[in-house]
Amino acid sequence: MFKNDDIDISKRFFLKRCLYNSLVFCSASLFHLVGCKREGNAKDTRGPGVYVPSYMKLHKNGELKKRGEKLWARMESCNLCPRECRANRLKGERGFCHSNARLQISGFHAHFGEEAPLVGVGGSGAIFLTNCSLRCVFCINWEISQEGIGSETDIENFAQIMLQLQKIGCHNINIVTPTHYSPHILLAIDKAVSLGLHLPIVYNTCGWERLDVLKELDGVVDIYLPDFKYANPNMAEKYSSGASTYPEITKKAILEMHRQVGVAVPSKDGIIYRGLIIRHLVMPNGVAGTKEIMEWIANYLPKDTYINIMSQYTPVYKAKDYPEISRRITKKEYAQAVTWAKEAGLTRLDIQGYRF
Ligand code: SF4
Repeated sequence: MFKNDDIDISKRFFLKRCLYNSLVFCSASLFHLVGCKREGNAKDTRGPGVYVPSYMKLHKNGELKKRGEKLWARMESCNLCPRECRANRLKGERGFCHSNARLQISGFHAHFGEEAPLVGVGGSGAIFLTNCSLRCVFCINWEISQEGIGSETDIENFAQIMLQLQKIGCHNINIVTPTHYSPHILLAIDKAVSLGLHLPIVYNTCGWERLDVLKELDGVVDIYLPDFKYANPNMAEKYSSGASTYPEITKKAILEMHRQVGVAVPSKDGIIYRGLIIRHLVMPNGVAGTKEIMEWIANYLPKDTYINIMSQYTPVYKAKDYPEISRRITKKEYAQAVTWAKEAGLTRLDIQGYRF
């Protein structure tokens, strides 16, 4: 229950995020209206109409399709995520994530609630995939991730959705909860590129990713957008369906993501075209281990790593069954999280409602 001196951070965040995004929209519109061209040398591949996603090369030499097929074959005894539950998805079995080989998509749209440098003028082209391998008890999208809401579709239609989002002016293709459908994603991108796709790919993941799968995504994904949810294996085990390996595996995965795409730096038009953006959801009663996570990032990644410190934790789905996570966070808890990040020396913080 909230006390009077607590704030509903989510509402404030939403209003401030809208205001911030409007400012980005105006400045980016002005940028386009005055016909600015990006300055810089010819090797600068970032910017509107200039950035060329690396998957173009892999499409041309046939590697993209080959990698998609290689990942597809792994569904025969599935080990696409750290669960390694070995379901034969190709024969219709559903794994721990509740997925078989048939792609399910719950929806897609231009998303204006993501990080401002992904939203820009036209929104982030979000495609929500059904099911999830992590299965957290507090998942805000639990109907999609755990109740199977979505429609079965095929690679061709997945590619057409990407093209549709490109056509309406989105800045990127933002694939939400991608892990269990990585084969479908690669094959759909390959198909979409042959039909004209040229937007950066955002891999919007829980962070709990296998290194051998990430290696197949090298040169395909432009922007990695992983969560870093917990520092403590016991918390991960308790709240994410026994995933006690989450901290250890996610740390390795984030280092690999950074190796592939580097630091996410907004271009002159305010948009991020490439790089790593880490999301950390502050949880009540220190459950997420925020201090430890911020210190780890500061020690193992550049200090200007883009980190979105999120305040919108809401006790939905099964969270009410767990007293320590059955409330929202307080203003004090959020301020403490920001202080820890700053004390660790981190400089590119996306702090909800305002930024440094
Ligand atoms: S992606 Fe799904 S089926 Fe494959 S190992 Fe993970 S939980 Fe099992």
